[in-house]
Amino acid sequence: MTNSSESSLTTSVQFVKGVGPQKAEVLAEVGVETVRDLLYYFPRRHLDRTSITSIRDLQKDSTATVVAKVEAAGVRKARKRKYFQLIVSDGTGMLNCIWFNGIQYVQKAFTVGDQVAFHGKVEFYNGYQLVHPEYDKLGEDEREPLNTGAVIPLYPSGQKLKSVGLDSRGFRRIIKGALKQFGSESDDFLPDDLRKSLKYLPLGESIEIIHFAADLEQLSEARCRLKFDEHFFLQLLMALRKVGITEAKGRSLSKTGPYIKLIYDSLDFELTGAQKRVLKQIKEDMASSNVMNRLLQGDVGSGKTIVSILAVAIAVGNGVQAAIMAPTEILAHQHYNVFRKYLDHAQITTAILVGNQPAKERRKILEGVKNRNIQVVVGTHALIQEDVEFADLGLAIVDEQHRFGVVQRGALAQKGMNPDMLVMTATPIPRTLAITYHGDLDLSVIDEMPKNRIPVTTKVVTEDKITKVYQFIRDQVAKGNQCMIVYPLIEESEKLDLKAVKEGYDILSKKVFPKLKLELIHGRMKKDEKDAVMDAFGRNEIQILVSTTVIEVGIDVPNATVMLIENAERFGLTQLHQLRGRIGRGTEKGYCILIQRGMTTTARRRLDIIASTTNGFDISDEDLKLRGPGEFYGTRQHGFMKWKIADLINDGDIITEARKSAFELVDHDPQLKKQEHAGIRSRFLHDYQQMLEYVNIS
Ligand code: ADP
Ligand code: MG
Repeated sequence: MTNSSESSLTTSVQFVKGVGPQKAEVLAEVGVETVRDLLYYFPRRHLDRTSITSIRDLQKDSTATVVAKVEAAGVRKARKRKYFQLIVSDGTGMLNCIWFNGIQYVQKAFTVGDQVAFHGKVEFYNGYQLVHPEYDKLGEDEREPLNTGAVIPLYPSGQKLKSVGLDSRGFRRIIKGALKQFGSESDDFLPDDLRKSLKYLPLGESIEIIHFAADLEQLSEARCRLKFDEHFFLQLLMALRKVGITEAKGRSLSKTGPYIKLIYDSLDFELTGAQKRVLKQIKEDMASSNVMNRLLQGDVGSGKTIVSILAVAIAVGNGVQAAIMAPTEILAHQHYNVFRKYLDHAQITTAILVGNQPAKERRKILEGVKNRNIQVVVGTHALIQEDVEFADLGLAIVDEQHRFGVVQRGALAQKGMNPDMLVMTATPIPRTLAITYHGDLDLSVIDEMPKNRIPVTTKVVTEDKITKVYQFIRDQVAKGNQCMIVYPLIEESEKLDLKAVKEGYDILSKKVFPKLKLELIHGRMKKDEKDAVMDAFGRNEIQILVSTTVIEVGIDVPNATVMLIENAERFGLTQLHQLRGRIGRGTEKGYCILIQRGMTTTARRRLDIIASTTNGFDISDEDLKLRGPGEFYGTRQHGFMKWKIADLINDGDIITEARKSAFELVDHDPQLKKQEHAGIRSRFLHDYQQMLEYVNIS
């Protein structure tokens, strides 16, 4: 059975009854080449009695699924605009479905008498209507099961698939056929004991059920099992990386050296308890002959930088070099300045390496890094270019700000011989994400703000109150404080946004604050110009800094007490939190004023959240819920995840379970060599092929 089913699931999908070469070609475009691929083509949604709303019960602005019969169809015209209209009924009422786009296509898609499941947002316009709803045609035989409580799978199916007959109904047919002809996964890669202890259904059964469930309860069980699998393999990757790293021998950087004390004595503040605690953890890690692989997490303003500087001092005190990689040039410069402030004092040579440096300067730095004249180098991903060679990189620090993934981290580490690694995240991230992205790291948390901080007050203000706000800023400046006014700038509308900030600056400097010193800073300015403006702001020669989000990260001016954010509704939550973190860093109370112009419900929700809490963890949790993990983390990181059914927001418990199982497994069998793990091993090697260079498995 084992072998025959293994070979049969790898059969080309074209041999499934009802597929053939033409459909197979279109299926290949969505990644379905074998019978197994087809079985793993999971439904995007399921339809069952409880998920269907009667037309009679529809409510405006809700999202609903309706199953109804097409009564009439036709192209209509209103105010010069053509649209396609379906009138459908379900025995409780009538409903309009409207398309403004793709009229030719939808026109052909429906015939009077069709039974269709429609899904979309309910609007009211001369009666209830759905505009551009998702739709799935149901077979004659399929409406009945719905009444008896069965569950109907709806598949992802674009125009191209539909054009070869692979709408949801088509998929149901061929998947049913494939299961009959070839069976489901008969080998479960999870060892029986483990599976039973976790109370999961066998793999093959779960796959059958995800397509054709008898009821919702069964479906939910199958779904949990399949989600588990996806999380499990990612956690396995983390676990394997972790043993790989922990087993790797590094150097013991155990000397105290003179630098720590020098820098410590030059501080004009006392480290917080949390800073001392994490520094101790880092010190122990570095002194150990195992390689450090630690995540330093702490909210904006919690003081991670000085901790990293002290770690650098330890490294240099032990005769090795240190590198700090930041995600943007601005932040790299900011770090460079702060590092210099402390390291110059201890006579440690520090350089900066970013893109677009003059060739001569760059060559000189590369030389210094190679011959050890430079002990510490701060930079962007320019640091991981091929031509950068270290004499002896012993400590690699990544200021992650969400933007670097496992891969870039690995690339920096490879610049040395198993250097110690410290990753800093500015924004606390939800636990599920932390496990997922940083699951291979040990965690240190700075959970305490410096004592001198007074919480920032945040207010959402509409534009009619703006003159009051301007007066407030004048009063603050009169007291010697400084202010930042931030405008949104996003890539898609960069030109318009840039124009807006320049115009804003003109009006502010000429009309609103003619007596004050204002300057403009934005990402398109030359580096020298930016530096000059930032330096002047740092020396309080500029009272109001007008900027785009270039100041989001890093900038540290303790004297800045007011931040006014224009069009705050256009910013993301994490971004607002980061921005707000730029003020109230000194001993004066900070104020963050969010000017709202134009408003949607989610925007309102975002601003309310920001105004109600300064806790980065709460904010990032909310952000994750509002935006979804893809956007939260940036899509760049997602290349190595092959998820079809797993999700970070709702799978918390499953993730924890998957993590525990994966780490225990690797504990007992670090190379996945045991016979009972052969199935796991082969699927892991298959799914994470492109990650194998980062794990130690042979
Ligand atoms: P972040 O964690 O966001 O990177 P920084 O390291 O930039 O925060 O620190 C924010 C500000 O707090 C800096 O001006 C820094 O000098 C100051 N700071 C750091 N630690 C302390 C402390 N223990 N007491 C007072 N101020 C501190
Ligand atoms: Mg920082």
